[in-house]
Amino acid sequence: MIEKREFYINGQWVAPSQAHDYEVIDPSTEEPCAVISLGSDADTDAAVAAAKAALPGWMATPVEARIALVEKLLEIYMTRGEELAQAMSVAMGAPIEMARTQQVGAGAYHLKNFIRAAKAFEFDRPLSDRAPNDRIIYEAVGVAALITPWNWPMNQVTLKFGAAAIAGCTMVLKPSEESPLDAMVFAQLIHEAGFPAGVFNLVNGDGMGVGTRLTGHPDVDMISFTGSSRAGIAISKNAADTLKKVHLELGGKGANVIFADADDKAVKRGVLHMMNNTGQSCNAPSRMMVQAEIYDQAVEIAAETAAKITVGSAHDEGRHIGPVVNKAQWDKIQGLIEKGIAEGARVVSGGPGRPENFNKGYYVRPTIFADVTPDMTIAREEIFGPVLSIMKFETEEEAVRIANDTDYGLTNYVQTQDGARANRMARVLRSGMVEMNGTSRAPGSPFGGMKKSGNGREGGIFGIEDFLEIKAVSGWTPS
Ligand code: NAD
Repeated sequence: MIEKREFYINGQWVAPSQAHDYEVIDPSTEEPCAVISLGSDADTDAAVAAAKAALPGWMATPVEARIALVEKLLEIYMTRGEELAQAMSVAMGAPIEMARTQQVGAGAYHLKNFIRAAKAFEFDRPLSDRAPNDRIIYEAVGVAALITPWNWPMNQVTLKFGAAAIAGCTMVLKPSEESPLDAMVFAQLIHEAGFPAGVFNLVNGDGMGVGTRLTGHPDVDMISFTGSSRAGIAISKNAADTLKKVHLELGGKGANVIFADADDKAVKRGVLHMMNNTGQSCNAPSRMMVQAEIYDQAVEIAAETAAKITVGSAHDEGRHIGPVVNKAQWDKIQGLIEKGIAEGARVVSGGPGRPENFNKGYYVRPTIFADVTPDMTIAREEIFGPVLSIMKFETEEEAVRIANDTDYGLTNYVQTQDGARANRMARVLRSGMVEMNGTSRAPGSPFGGMKKSGNGREGGIFGIEDFLEIKAVSGWTPS
């Protein structure tokens, strides 16, 4: 059993001020795999104090030097992928091969993109050629609390750390108590890279404890949060008394609109995207909307595709999907599958219960529902498991109406070979991102949502800007 009870505060690993053990459960086996500590108010206050003390020095460090330290960190990160992959895989259930490639890969990708974006950004510049005495200075927001979820742990931690560090913020990270081990490895890498003491601090804890203390703390200037809309609302309320800047990356219920002229891989691609990471992605295309002419054929392809997806332990090599993260999620997903059936949706693959040959572990059958209607619970709630809802539409107008009829607005997807129609759809879909015909966003493109999916943008220069204040100086003396 891994024992990692300490926190990283002011450049050192320190024991919690009071013992509060917490067992991390391996979702593949339901057995404890590690013990960490949940921090108290005193631990949180110590981390915030360290970040506050380090802030003036870090802000005064030239941005080139801050970028150089992130470059050093990336270099070390590239050599420690296996450790990070194992830490994520055991705690949150990503199959080890997927953890190595996608989960660890995402972190390296974000750090690289921040470095490239920051090198091209003018942090200090004249307002315009016509106003040489007006200066625009971008400076750090201050002490940032970073609160992250368990589903793409290193992805989230690097998106926040890389942007905050380059912007000149000091920070306190509270990773998810469900997947804290990778963040603790990351703290070691930050230490090895030589970041000054206090720039980065890590305190483990839960939402009610460390999370609440951080989001109401008078010495925290900004919250960067990724997680559920429920917690996003609680955090916003708690941060209101101290008027912090609150950056939110929340849940999603993405529509994948498949027109009759879509390419012939569109349905299969949509199913595989949905099932990746066992359906535990905020940008999962969880509502597949299919035009009437190809609906029956699409349902058939979706069912066949899902039936071929294998489920297995996160510890096994291979390209299967793993368990979901914990019992609470397993129970929630099972409840929603039952509700889908009760409300009249048709199961065409998978269904309730564990897959065959499993009687332990939080495994879910890859499930496809057909004949889902917009009012059904499974069409409205974020399920966060390997469950896809297929709906039928007739016209483009109807597709837009159904796609936008959701509280969320993170990513929508469009499949059509008619470029003009795809572009029309991109303009009217209410989401922070629209992905056409399986084309991924380019490096440095902003990730984030609208409505109950949040308000922040992460990645590239947009992510760095979220950690910056804009200062306007008039009467500047040009040198
Ligand atoms: P969660 O909201 O339960 O927890 C996320 C983090 O917030 C954890 O560290 C948790 O301890 C903390 N937390 C919980 N309640 C808190 C509170 N009241 N105050 C302060 N901190 C609190 O979410 P989760 O179950 O870990 O993650 C899944 C959710 O995250 C899904 O809804 C998913 O869509 C969302 N997500 C969004 C994005 C995005 O970029 N939009 C990315 C990944 C995940």
